[in-house]
Amino acid sequence: MHSQRLIPVPALADNYIWLLAESNRCLIVDPGEAPPVLAALQRESLTPTTILLTHHHPDHIAGVAGLLATYPGLPVIAPHDERIATATRRVADGEQVHIDAPRADFVVIEIPGHTRSHIAFFGAGVVFAGDTLFSVGCGRMFEGTPPVMLASLDRLAQLPGNTLLCCGHEYTLANCAFARSVDAGNIDLQQRAEQVRTLRARGEPTVPVALELEHATNPFLRVDTPAIRTSCARAIGAAAAEDRIARFAWLRREKDGFRA
Ligand SMILES: [Zn+2]
Repeated sequence: MHSQRLIPVPALADNYIWLLAESNRCLIVDPGEAPPVLAALQRESLTPTTILLTHHHPDHIAGVAGLLATYPGLPVIAPHDERIATATRRVADGEQVHIDAPRADFVVIEIPGHTRSHIAFFGAGVVFAGDTLFSVGCGRMFEGTPPVMLASLDRLAQLPGNTLLCCGHEYTLANCAFARSVDAGNIDLQQRAEQVRTLRARGEPTVPVALELEHATNPFLRVDTPAIRTSCARAIGAAAAEDRIARFAWLRREKDGFRA
Protein backbone atom coordinates (compact mmCIF):
# COMPACT_ATOMS: atom_id res chain seq x y z
CA MET A 1 0.00 0.00 0.00
CA HIS A 2 1.56 3.25 -1.12
CA SER A 3 0.53 6.42 0.59
CA GLN A 4 -0.78 9.32 -1.41
CA ARG A 5 1.01 12.64 -1.68
CA LEU A 6 -0.41 16.06 -2.47
CA ILE A 7 2.00 18.30 -4.37
CA PRO A 8 1.18 21.96 -5.00
CA VAL A 9 3.03 23.11 -8.13
CA PRO A 10 3.44 26.91 -8.18
CA ALA A 11 2.56 28.34 -11.60
CA LEU A 12 2.00 31.69 -13.31
CA ALA A 13 1.92 34.59 -10.81
CA ASP A 14 0.28 32.94 -7.80
CA ASN A 15 -1.53 29.81 -9.02
CA TYR A 16 -1.23 26.31 -7.67
CA ILE A 17 -1.57 23.32 -9.97
CA TRP A 18 -2.22 20.26 -7.80
CA LEU A 19 -0.79 16.78 -8.20
CA LEU A 20 -2.19 13.85 -6.23
CA ALA A 21 0.37 11.08 -6.44
CA GLU A 22 0.53 7.46 -5.38
CA SER A 23 3.59 5.39 -6.17
CA ASN A 24 4.68 6.74 -9.58
CA ARG A 25 1.24 7.77 -10.89
CA CYS A 26 -0.57 11.03 -10.38
CA LEU A 27 -3.52 13.13 -11.38
CA ILE A 28 -3.21 16.78 -12.29
CA VAL A 29 -5.70 19.46 -11.25
CA ASP A 30 -6.14 22.78 -13.08
CA PRO A 31 -2.94 23.02 -15.15
CA GLY A 32 -2.81 26.70 -16.06
CA GLU A 33 0.51 26.13 -17.82
CA ALA A 34 2.42 23.00 -18.81
CA PRO A 35 6.14 23.66 -18.15
CA PRO A 36 6.11 23.67 -14.32
CA VAL A 37 3.95 20.52 -14.35
CA LEU A 38 6.29 18.74 -16.77
CA ALA A 39 9.23 19.74 -14.57
CA ALA A 40 7.48 18.48 -11.42
CA LEU A 41 6.56 15.18 -13.10
CA GLN A 42 10.18 14.66 -14.08
CA ARG A 43 11.54 15.70 -10.69
CA GLU A 44 9.13 13.38 -8.84
CA SER A 45 9.33 10.55 -11.41
CA LEU A 46 5.58 10.64 -11.94
CA THR A 47 3.41 9.62 -14.88
CA PRO A 48 0.04 11.40 -15.07
CA THR A 49 -3.14 9.37 -15.56
CA THR A 50 -5.89 12.01 -15.46
CA ILE A 51 -6.47 15.75 -15.63
CA LEU A 52 -9.24 17.31 -13.53
CA LEU A 53 -10.50 20.82 -14.29
CA THR A 54 -12.62 22.92 -11.91
CA HIS A 55 -13.53 25.82 -14.21
CA HIS A 56 -12.82 27.39 -17.58
CA HIS A 57 -10.47 30.25 -16.68
CA PRO A 58 -7.22 30.16 -18.70
CA ASP A 59 -5.02 30.16 -15.60
CA HIS A 60 -6.59 26.78 -14.77
CA ILE A 61 -6.77 25.10 -18.19
CA ALA A 62 -4.26 26.70 -20.59
CA GLY A 63 -1.63 24.03 -19.89
CA VAL A 64 -3.84 21.11 -20.94
CA ALA A 65 -2.80 21.19 -24.60
CA GLY A 66 0.89 21.21 -23.69
CA LEU A 67 0.42 18.24 -21.36
CA LEU A 68 -1.54 16.31 -24.00
CA ALA A 69 1.31 16.92 -26.46
CA THR A 70 3.59 14.98 -24.10
CA TYR A 71 0.97 12.56 -22.76
CA PRO A 72 -1.51 11.97 -25.59
CA GLY A 73 -4.84 10.45 -24.64
CA LEU A 74 -4.92 11.62 -21.02
CA PRO A 75 -8.55 11.82 -19.90
CA VAL A 76 -9.62 15.40 -19.17
CA ILE A 77 -12.55 15.60 -16.76
CA ALA A 78 -14.31 18.95 -16.69
CA PRO A 79 -17.65 20.64 -16.04
CA HIS A 80 -20.33 21.02 -18.70
CA ASP A 81 -19.00 24.19 -20.30
CA GLU A 82 -18.19 24.58 -23.99
CA ARG A 83 -15.46 27.05 -23.06
CA ILE A 84 -13.37 24.02 -22.05
CA ALA A 85 -12.69 22.55 -25.48
CA THR A 86 -10.21 19.88 -24.33
CA ALA A 87 -12.65 17.97 -22.10
CA THR A 88 -13.01 14.25 -22.82
CA ARG A 89 -15.62 13.74 -20.11
CA ARG A 90 -18.01 16.29 -18.65
CA VAL A 91 -19.38 15.81 -15.16
CA ALA A 92 -22.28 17.25 -13.18
CA ASP A 93 -23.33 17.49 -9.55
CA GLY A 94 -23.23 14.22 -7.64
CA GLU A 95 -21.40 12.30 -10.33
CA GLN A 96 -18.68 9.90 -9.24
CA VAL A 97 -15.20 10.03 -10.71
CA HIS A 98 -13.24 6.84 -10.14
CA ILE A 99 -9.52 6.85 -10.77
CA ASP A 100 -7.39 3.69 -10.64
CA ALA A 101 -4.00 5.31 -10.10
CA PRO A 102 -3.74 7.11 -7.80
CA ARG A 103 -6.62 5.09 -6.36
CA ALA A 104 -9.27 7.67 -5.63
CA ASP A 105 -13.00 8.18 -5.82
CA PHE A 106 -14.27 11.72 -6.14
CA VAL A 107 -17.74 13.13 -6.07
CA VAL A 108 -18.45 16.21 -8.14
CA ILE A 109 -19.96 19.20 -6.33
CA GLU A 110 -21.33 22.06 -8.41
CA ILE A 111 -20.28 25.33 -6.81
CA PRO A 112 -21.30 28.19 -9.13
CA GLY A 113 -20.54 31.83 -8.39
CA HIS A 114 -16.94 32.48 -9.42
CA THR A 115 -18.05 31.09 -12.78
CA ARG A 116 -21.45 29.66 -13.62
CA SER A 117 -20.14 26.10 -14.23
CA HIS A 118 -17.49 25.85 -11.51
CA ILE A 119 -17.18 22.43 -9.86
CA ALA A 120 -15.21 20.91 -7.00
CA PHE A 121 -13.85 17.37 -6.75
CA PHE A 122 -14.21 15.86 -3.26
CA GLY A 123 -12.50 12.59 -2.40
CA ALA A 124 -9.35 10.98 -1.01
CA GLY A 125 -9.65 13.28 2.00
CA VAL A 126 -9.23 16.32 -0.21
CA VAL A 127 -11.38 18.92 -1.94
CA PHE A 128 -10.07 20.54 -5.11
CA ALA A 129 -12.04 23.78 -4.90
CA GLY A 130 -10.51 25.86 -7.69
CA ASP A 131 -11.24 29.56 -7.21
CA THR A 132 -14.38 29.25 -5.06
CA LEU A 133 -12.92 28.80 -1.58
CA PHE A 134 -9.43 30.05 -0.75
CA SER A 135 -7.65 29.80 2.55
CA VAL A 136 -9.09 32.65 4.67
CA GLY A 137 -10.94 33.96 1.61
CA CYS A 138 -13.18 33.19 -1.34
CA GLY A 139 -13.22 33.84 -5.06
CA ARG A 140 -14.66 36.82 -6.86
CA MET A 141 -18.17 36.49 -8.27
CA PHE A 142 -17.56 36.86 -12.00
CA GLU A 143 -20.63 34.88 -13.08
CA GLY A 144 -22.76 34.68 -9.97
CA THR A 145 -24.63 36.60 -7.31
CA PRO A 146 -24.14 36.63 -3.54
CA PRO A 147 -26.86 34.03 -2.81
CA VAL A 148 -25.43 31.67 -5.44
CA MET A 149 -21.86 32.06 -4.18
CA LEU A 150 -22.85 31.73 -0.54
CA ALA A 151 -24.80 28.54 -1.28
CA SER A 152 -21.66 27.13 -2.94
CA LEU A 153 -19.51 28.04 0.07
CA ASP A 154 -22.15 26.49 2.36
CA ARG A 155 -21.82 23.22 0.45
CA LEU A 156 -18.05 23.17 0.83
CA ALA A 157 -18.42 24.07 4.51
CA GLN A 158 -20.51 20.94 5.05
CA LEU A 159 -17.63 18.63 4.10
CA PRO A 160 -15.83 16.87 6.97
CA GLY A 161 -13.57 19.18 8.99
CA ASN A 162 -10.48 17.09 8.34
CA THR A 163 -10.87 17.50 4.55
CA LEU A 164 -7.83 19.20 3.08
CA LEU A 165 -8.66 22.30 1.03
CA CYS A 166 -6.63 22.52 -2.19
CA CYS A 167 -7.33 25.86 -3.81
CA GLY A 168 -6.16 27.57 -6.98
CA HIS A 169 -4.16 30.51 -5.65
CA GLU A 170 -1.72 31.55 -2.94
CA TYR A 171 -3.71 34.48 -1.58
CA THR A 172 -3.61 33.59 2.10
CA LEU A 173 -1.35 36.38 3.38
CA ALA A 174 -3.49 39.15 1.85
CA ASN A 175 -6.63 37.29 2.89
CA CYS A 176 -5.47 37.26 6.52
CA ALA A 177 -5.00 41.04 6.46
CA PHE A 178 -8.57 41.55 5.28
CA ALA A 179 -9.97 38.94 7.66
CA ARG A 180 -8.35 40.65 10.64
CA SER A 181 -10.04 43.92 9.63
CA VAL A 182 -13.50 42.35 10.06
CA ASP A 183 -12.75 39.71 12.74
CA ALA A 184 -10.21 41.53 14.92
CA GLY A 185 -10.67 39.55 18.13
CA ASN A 186 -10.23 36.11 16.55
CA ILE A 187 -7.26 34.39 18.22
CA ASP A 188 -7.27 31.46 15.76
CA LEU A 189 -7.05 33.96 12.91
CA GLN A 190 -4.15 35.77 14.56
CA GLN A 191 -2.30 32.47 14.96
CA ARG A 192 -3.03 31.49 11.36
CA ALA A 193 -1.79 34.89 10.14
CA GLU A 194 1.45 34.39 12.07
CA GLN A 195 1.87 30.87 10.64
CA VAL A 196 1.17 32.16 7.12
CA ARG A 197 3.73 34.95 7.46
CA THR A 198 6.36 32.41 8.51
CA LEU A 199 5.51 30.00 5.68
CA ARG A 200 5.57 32.73 3.03
CA ALA A 201 8.84 34.14 4.36
CA ARG A 202 10.31 30.69 3.68
CA GLY A 203 8.67 30.56 0.26
CA GLU A 204 6.44 27.67 1.32
CA PRO A 205 2.78 27.17 0.40
CA THR A 206 0.06 27.87 2.99
CA VAL A 207 -2.15 25.14 1.54
CA PRO A 208 -3.43 22.47 1.74
CA VAL A 209 -5.26 23.40 4.93
CA ALA A 210 -7.92 21.52 6.90
CA LEU A 211 -11.45 22.84 6.51
CA GLU A 212 -11.81 22.96 10.31
CA LEU A 213 -9.12 25.66 10.42
CA GLU A 214 -11.02 27.54 7.70
CA HIS A 215 -14.16 27.40 9.85
CA ALA A 216 -12.19 29.09 12.60
CA THR A 217 -10.48 31.74 10.44
CA ASN A 218 -12.21 32.35 7.10
CA PRO A 219 -14.65 35.28 7.34
CA PHE A 220 -16.64 34.01 4.34
CA LEU A 221 -17.40 30.80 6.28
CA ARG A 222 -18.13 32.83 9.41
CA VAL A 223 -20.99 35.07 8.27
CA ASP A 224 -23.18 33.67 11.07
CA THR A 225 -20.70 34.30 13.90
CA PRO A 226 -21.29 37.10 16.43
CA ALA A 227 -17.99 38.76 15.41
CA ILE A 228 -18.87 39.07 11.72
CA ARG A 229 -22.47 40.00 12.54
CA THR A 230 -21.20 42.84 14.74
CA SER A 231 -18.70 44.14 12.16
CA CYS A 232 -21.38 44.03 9.48
CA ALA A 233 -24.02 45.71 11.61
CA ARG A 234 -21.61 48.54 12.32
CA ALA A 235 -21.09 49.03 8.57
CA ILE A 236 -24.54 48.53 7.02
CA GLY A 237 -26.85 48.85 10.03
CA ALA A 238 -28.30 46.28 12.40
CA ALA A 239 -31.48 45.67 10.41
CA ALA A 240 -29.74 45.05 7.08
CA ALA A 241 -27.13 42.89 8.80
CA GLU A 242 -29.83 40.48 10.00
CA ASP A 243 -29.76 38.90 6.53
CA ARG A 244 -26.88 36.44 6.05
CA ILE A 245 -26.79 36.99 2.28
CA ALA A 246 -26.45 40.72 2.96
CA ARG A 247 -23.61 39.98 5.37
CA PHE A 248 -21.85 37.83 2.78
CA ALA A 249 -22.36 40.44 0.05
CA TRP A 250 -20.97 43.11 2.37
CA LEU A 251 -17.88 41.01 3.14
CA ARG A 252 -17.20 40.31 -0.54
CA ARG A 253 -17.66 44.01 -1.41
CA GLU A 254 -15.33 45.08 1.41
CA LYS A 255 -12.70 42.58 0.29
CA ASP A 256 -12.91 43.87 -3.30
CA GLY A 257 -12.06 47.35 -2.08
CA PHE A 258 -9.60 46.35 0.65
CA ARG A 259 -6.01 47.55 0.59
CA ALA A 260 -3.83 46.35 3.45
ZN1 LIG B 1 -10.84 31.49 -11.86
